[in-house]
Amino acid sequence: MLRIGHGFDVHAFAEGRKLILGGIEIPSERGLDGHSDADVLAHALIDAICGAARLPDIGRLFPDNDPAYQGADSIELLRQVGRMAEERRCRILDADCTIAAQAPKLAPYIDQMGDRLAEALGLPAESVGVKATTTEHLGFVGRKEGIAAWAVVLAQDERDAER
Ligand code: MG
Repeated sequence: MLRIGHGFDVHAFAEGRKLILGGIEIPSERGLDGHSDADVLAHALIDAICGAARLPDIGRLFPDNDPAYQGADSIELLRQVGRMAEERRCRILDADCTIAAQAPKLAPYIDQMGDRLAEALGLPAESVGVKATTTEHLGFVGRKEGIAAWAVVLAQDERDAER
């Protein structure tokens, strides 16, 4: 049967950090704070896959008090979660993501992010959509305190065929 998964994540801006979104380093005065590389977009997509595959969520799979994930490359975590889903016979068909950021301008990097995320999951580039929006200066995103991201995933649960 088809399954859907949804993921949401937020990270606060912090000085002296790189800004990594969808595995792409984006020129910015500030980056996002976090235990790993704080790639909020990759994290939202990971949680969406966890949802579709009925895996534990990202915080349970990769605890943020585990030194193993200090500074972790979230694209590598995404790759691992893709494999875990595959082991559960859950085949990711399609994903779509939205990033809410007031700054910096993300449009020039959107296609690269989609390509990078798709590649990590072994999917064709067109199978991972990425969009960016501002919040018209409203809320924590609008005040440039952080960045939020959402992702949805459509997956085929192939275990049903065996039931
Ligand atoms: Mg996160």
